[in-house]
Amino acid sequence: MKHPLAFLALLLLNTFPAFAQKTYYAIRNVTLIPMNREVALPDQTVVVEDGMISKIGAAETVKIPKGAAVIDGAGKYLMPGLFDMHVHFFYEQGDNENTCREELKMMLANGLTTVRIECGDPVYLDARKKVKEGEWAGPQLFVASPQFVGAWPWPGKVFAAICKTPEEAEAAVRKYKAEGYDEIKITFMVKRDVYDAIIRTAKEEGIKVTGHVGPLVKLPAALAARQQIEHMDEFIDMLLPDTSYNHGQSVSDMNIWRKNAWATVPYLDEAKMPELVGMVKEAGIYVTPTNFFFLSSFGEGRTDEQYQQRPDYQFIPPNIKEDRWRIKAHYWNNAPPEESRKKYVHLRKKMAYELWKAGVPLMAGSDSPEWFLAQGFALHDELETFVGAGLTPFAALQTATVHPAAYLGVLHNKGTIEVGKQADLILLDKNPLDDIRNTRSIHSVFQGKNRYDAGAVKRLLEEAKTLGR
Ligand SMILES: [Zn+2]
Repeated sequence: MKHPLAFLALLLLNTFPAFAQKTYYAIRNVTLIPMNREVALPDQTVVVEDGMISKIGAAETVKIPKGAAVIDGAGKYLMPGLFDMHVHFFYEQGDNENTCREELKMMLANGLTTVRIECGDPVYLDARKKVKEGEWAGPQLFVASPQFVGAWPWPGKVFAAICKTPEEAEAAVRKYKAEGYDEIKITFMVKRDVYDAIIRTAKEEGIKVTGHVGPLVKLPAALAARQQIEHMDEFIDMLLPDTSYNHGQSVSDMNIWRKNAWATVPYLDEAKMPELVGMVKEAGIYVTPTNFFFLSSFGEGRTDEQYQQRPDYQFIPPNIKEDRWRIKAHYWNNAPPEESRKKYVHLRKKMAYELWKAGVPLMAGSDSPEWFLAQGFALHDELETFVGAGLTPFAALQTATVHPAAYLGVLHNKGTIEVGKQADLILLDKNPLDDIRNTRSIHSVFQGKNRYDAGAVKRLLEEAKTLGR
């Protein structure tokens, strides 16, 4: 403390704590759902000091610091902010317009405080930085690398690392690690030798691998590599009675579009499921089923009216909507037989349920904005789908709180409500443990020092609505 002004500053800070600019707020008399155990604690007060949870306790015992903003939580429920582990931006579609800022508002207003972007681009690294520095409102972002593919069959801008050889894959993994991506993302048509090079190099570079499992890789290799698997890719194919049939390919991954893959569905053998579940459990991996997207788009189907009546429909840019109607028509104008689709829906739900029962950590991922799912809204559909598959509401909430926090290595700071963690919180009007649909009853969102009350949440959504115009 050599500088006299520094001494003066210290004196001021000690004498008048206001100069330290500590910010306090407290949520009082709330029912707490801490998510570190299955419990709802009535009449609690949570104190947040400089964005961190500093006190939790029975309302009558917790002293609220002087000058703290007090939020009345009476009749409401406080739970950790939600994670969505499989999200994209509209930027990859339509005219490649960068509307990330509005999309992030939509996510935050829906209670998402942490999101993994499951396909990278420098634009998203910039968005991650802007959120981190407080320039933009939005969930904390984890950004996976540009997706590794074996080919890119579409015209226009390429949102992928096209890797045909192990050498190309190795160079790309090292490049993306150096550029600051959080994980390596694999998508489709990746050959086995390229896959092995990705896994090997990622291990050397200390970066995790997430994504699809393609028919050139197959599940046993992905499990041996301990890849984090999206969409339960290749799981359903393991139920084929004879793996030589249709080259062991059923309706995973891009095969969902192929009629000859759908022809295998009547032969899928549910009795093989325990073996499959045992293999996945043994590998110790995290799985993101993204079941709502697959069931609603390819299994159950939705009428045009049902899509139009979804709350998120009005947030989708018009040119992207047009594209979506074309995709929907392409699949449904010549849809697979209803019996096969019913079996597909049943098996996907059953797999999620059996994986949960076996203790495989599942993560909630919406895969929005696929089809007519907009980011933020669709995460709640995924939670509902978990409960529809037989999980308890608490278990469904774990997929969007504790499990992703543990997978991302941020459980020390997020995922539960405990003293010493960041105040990533959502205040709900109704109890999500009674009915999972109540996660939609968002009153306020808290993200560290930032507080979005009911009015602010509404404003975020209003601003995000420019996306749909
Ligand atoms: Zn995706």
